[in-house]
Amino acid sequence: MYQNVQLFIGDQWRDAQSGKTLDVINPATEEVIGTLAHAEIPDLDAALEAAAKGFATWRKMTAYERSKIMRRAADLIRERADHIARLMTMEQGKPVGEAKIEIMGSADVVDWFAEEGRRAYGRVIPNRVPGVYQLSLREPVGVVAGFTPWNFPMSQAVRKISAALAAGCAFILKGPEETPASCAELVRAYIDAGVPYGTVQLVFGVPAQISEYLIPHPVIRKISFTGSTVIGKHLAALAGKHMKRATMELGGHAPSIVFNDADLDAAATILAANKFRNAGQVCVAPTRFLVQEGVYEEFLGKFVAKCEALKLGNGLEPDTTMGPLANDRRVAAMEALIGDAVQKGATVRTGGKRAGNKGYFFEPTAIADVPMDARLMNEEPFGPVAIFRPFQTFDEVISEANRLPYGLAAYAYTRNTKTATALASELESGMVAINHHGLALPETPFGGVKDSGYGSEGGAEGLEPYLVTKFVTQAGA
Ligand code: NAD
Repeated sequence: MYQNVQLFIGDQWRDAQSGKTLDVINPATEEVIGTLAHAEIPDLDAALEAAAKGFATWRKMTAYERSKIMRRAADLIRERADHIARLMTMEQGKPVGEAKIEIMGSADVVDWFAEEGRRAYGRVIPNRVPGVYQLSLREPVGVVAGFTPWNFPMSQAVRKISAALAAGCAFILKGPEETPASCAELVRAYIDAGVPYGTVQLVFGVPAQISEYLIPHPVIRKISFTGSTVIGKHLAALAGKHMKRATMELGGHAPSIVFNDADLDAAATILAANKFRNAGQVCVAPTRFLVQEGVYEEFLGKFVAKCEALKLGNGLEPDTTMGPLANDRRVAAMEALIGDAVQKGATVRTGGKRAGNKGYFFEPTAIADVPMDARLMNEEPFGPVAIFRPFQTFDEVISEANRLPYGLAAYAYTRNTKTATALASELESGMVAINHHGLALPETPFGGVKDSGYGSEGGAEGLEPYLVTKFVTQAGA
């Protein structure tokens, strides 16, 4: 039932002009389940030409008309959610229930931005001279190129496309080659809802070839990228060189702090659920578990029990609670990172190795007393491994939390209000969640600081990057 995936250019689903395709692999079985069309320069040229026309049409439509089309797209996503969820699980691996949550959440993001576009207010600035009107207008930035990864094939793309469309921009999406079908279903919902020719387009291919062609191109006025810090820095530099605006949602290594006075059961339940969601391949996943000495062993015991209760398997099976990793690179990365930590003195408390002999399965892992010089303490793990270290004082844990160049998400559990307030102000992080999870809602800002990037993708802040300001001052003739 997996479908071969085409490009969407102008107003047509079509193959690449060269006829080239790439294989799509199911990470639970390692079988080829389909193909995707592989765009090259002539396809990109066609998309750029259509995008310029699409922008001219879409920007002239009223915010009200744009909103109606977007709301229709949200409804189509909801109607098709069961079908899309199966595609997503087959190509990405996550349990089908998690896929459905991602899809329904994506529909909510479309609705949020559909409404937010109707509130993209400008300002009237009080005059110095009678009869003069001073207006600050908000206009769409232009055609946007978006680059989205394989970990959340739909929700990574939906925030970028929806904010751009709500602002009146046209969008060319370079989708994730490993998980193309569910991402293509997002584009299909927009097309079927009635976005005009050239307004939303979809390409796949060699990521570097596409970004290096699109970013400098004069039709493109802004880029938005989600992925690793190293690639983000490369693309941000390219955007800077060509004076293109950029939003960068990059890596993280989230400190997850548990104080002696925390509700340990709640902390273990919530942190484990979020650690192993999508097999840990989440930029905001809790990763560095910093636990105060008085409860270190007790908390570790509770966390290990959560790990061992997970059911690893094919995401299409109803009782699976953790699927395979999305590709073989992640399995190799987990083995290398855990091997390095153990060799330097860390202790695996549970898991720690590949599971089975088919599919990219890796056991939910808790690893304790990881030395500071281990790679795991310094590099984003992006997989199902929780790294534990004890701490003594508030100052010590803040200094460890802020030590790395990352600053995306941070978590903390404490019953002391003073500690909670101090944490919120001291943590160098774009998002801080205390005593619960609660990140990535459509109406709340999402984004990092430091090497985790810049720009916000949710909330009212999410529309800003797609708008430019024009000042108009007008006197009577
Ligand atoms: P990668 O760095 O090769 O790719 C990461 C993403 O960037 C992919 O979607 C890829 O298509 C894209 N990409 C790579 N080079 C590009 C280029 N020159 N131009 C445009 N796009 C480009 O690594 P990977 O093996 O796919 O993933 C490994 C690391 O990437 C992970 O360890 C994690 O740190 C990061 N990652 C982060 C997120 C996130 O949500 N922030 C998602 C996926 C991957």
